[in-house]
Amino acid sequence: MPPSRPSNSRQPARPIKARTLADIRRKLLAWYRRNRRNLPWRNTSDPYAIWLSETMLQQTQVATVIPYYERFLRKYPSIERLAGAPLDEVLNLWAGLGYYSRARNLHRAAIEITNRYNGRVPDSTAELRTLPGVGRYTAGAVASIAYDVRTAVVDGNVSRVIARLFDIHADVKSPAGEKTVWNTAEVLLPRKHVGDFNQALMELGATVCRPGDAAECDACPLRNECNALAAGNVARLPVRKKKTPVKKETHIAIVADFDNKRLYRRRPAEGLWGGLWELPSVVRNGAAEHATAQMLARELLGDSTTVDRRQLCTIEHQLTHRSVKFVAFRAHATTSRLQPDSQESSRWLTKHAADRIGLSTAMRKIIAAIPETTPDSNGRAPTKRQ
Ligand code: SF4
Repeated sequence: MPPSRPSNSRQPARPIKARTLADIRRKLLAWYRRNRRNLPWRNTSDPYAIWLSETMLQQTQVATVIPYYERFLRKYPSIERLAGAPLDEVLNLWAGLGYYSRARNLHRAAIEITNRYNGRVPDSTAELRTLPGVGRYTAGAVASIAYDVRTAVVDGNVSRVIARLFDIHADVKSPAGEKTVWNTAEVLLPRKHVGDFNQALMELGATVCRPGDAAECDACPLRNECNALAAGNVARLPVRKKKTPVKKETHIAIVADFDNKRLYRRRPAEGLWGGLWELPSVVRNGAAEHATAQMLARELLGDSTTVDRRQLCTIEHQLTHRSVKFVAFRAHATTSRLQPDSQESSRWLTKHAADRIGLSTAMRKIIAAIPETTPDSNGRAPTKRQ
């Protein structure tokens, strides 16, 4: 049998025999139909719901995503409803899922789809990729799952399955390794049931072809086709470069209350917790913690503001590549007037209003750690916030 050639000029890791390709497609699809998990986004063909699930599933585990996905769709059952919602409300609903740029992009993309495509999610990967936050993975997932467009999808699970199936030893995160995996994924695609096939590859990676020595090759429908299994290389693939070391940071926050309101500030749109609200905070950079808090408080509220020397509370928060320690100090404002540079980004909010803004999980943890009985705005008698 001559080696198969892909329908376009792309080449996989090595030529794959047509019979092997046919076997992989048939066995994987049959396995998927029998073994797929019953997940809420698998019971819909609505491109909006599929796009939402694929966005939420990036960097986040299935079990965490399910309640968020269901809540989100209850609140915004259509693209138009999402497009018409205030960003803060969307961020608030997203709180706890992390990687908030996904929520901001989803909201912007919903507005674009409403305006440019009359509320219909485009079916071509090229058009999908013009939308904010939609890269090759999401475009491929939406186009193939919602519209059965013949296009590949490669996430961490798929790249592990492919690296093992074809015994690929290139670093799958390097440009060359990534290209090989994507090209191979394209070659593997069947002519029909593309969405199911892509989901089957992802499902196999998530439930059977698991990382390290957790792979359950005995239960794998592709064990006869698997080159890494034959070569004894399963646990060592895929090859990845060393993990980025975890960065340690201390963030100093201030808690300023005045007239039964608390000071919040919106973070810049880009970067960590971009666009979310926070108790004003800065990354500690050399100076002592209290001096940093004092500087921040005066920057926002003027030179007459004092800051308690004693820490109000501290929390630790882990992110994928960052370990953040928050230290909060009580600031005593003598006025609610904000310094000119802070007026646009900062607000005094009642507790009721603060419950409705988008806050990161870390910020919610700090707020929960603030002692309930705290000095009032001028540091005089203790008062309990309503
Ligand atoms: S045989 Fe093992 S290593 Fe190969 S694809 Fe199946 S689970 Fe993965």
